[in-house]
Amino acid sequence: MVSCYYHPDRETPFACNRCTRPICEECQLTVNGIVICPDCDKGSTSRNESMLWGTLGVMVLITIDSASYFVFFFTGVLIHTILFKIAFIVGSSLLFAALIHLRNEHNQDLFVASGLLIFLYSLFSFAVRTPTDPESMFLALSSMILFFSGFIILGRAFLEIYRKTTDPKLTKFLGRYLVLFPFAWIILALSMGIIYFLSVTLNFILPMVGYVLLLTFFMKESEENKTPLEKEN
Ligand SMILES: [Zn+2]
Ligand SMILES: [Zn+2]
Repeated sequence: MVSCYYHPDRETPFACNRCTRPICEECQLTVNGIVICPDCDKGSTSRNESMLWGTLGVMVLITIDSASYFVFFFTGVLIHTILFKIAFIVGSSLLFAALIHLRNEHNQDLFVASGLLIFLYSLFSFAVRTPTDPESMFLALSSMILFFSGFIILGRAFLEIYRKTTDPKLTKFLGRYLVLFPFAWIILALSMGIIYFLSVTLNFILPMVGYVLLLTFFMKESEENKTPLEKEN
């Protein structure tokens, strides 16, 4: 048997589930049902901050998408103000920061890849001026590809780690949704291209459901429920 990292005189069969160092019963802490050591518990403060960034980032994205949808729906005008685009970049940067944390916590590189793609997507949309000129059409198409691949990869990443999250069912559903909705979007948008407002509404609703699920994930992950370890005897 190995000795507790904090108490070298105590032998223990237990180990921290995050950093794998051996810990005795007294040193064990249960966070979200997972046994961790005191050092990893300290690390969870920065984790909570990161999850808060994710929450804020997704809230910004939801606000921007809703505002531009409703303005477009009622006035037919596309919002292309600089302030709007900057807010978009801020939102995706915050999301990126949270995804970098998830990458480090779960050792899953797909989180960084997806965060980068979604961030690039927000930069690309900055370059789109009038959606009708050919150059902007090219940029818009490229940004759509970034958007879709970013969310599909993010979905894959969630499906890799869902077992270790606060609400595995939600995370699994989130992962599946993010992988599938871009395909549903393409198929439905193509088939409903004639019914213009319906496809515009769809362009709004499909990603929005993804955002809301993502928001719920970040909110759940940021509330740690710490309980003392149950004694087995
Ligand atoms: Zn640890
Ligand atoms: Zn100990």
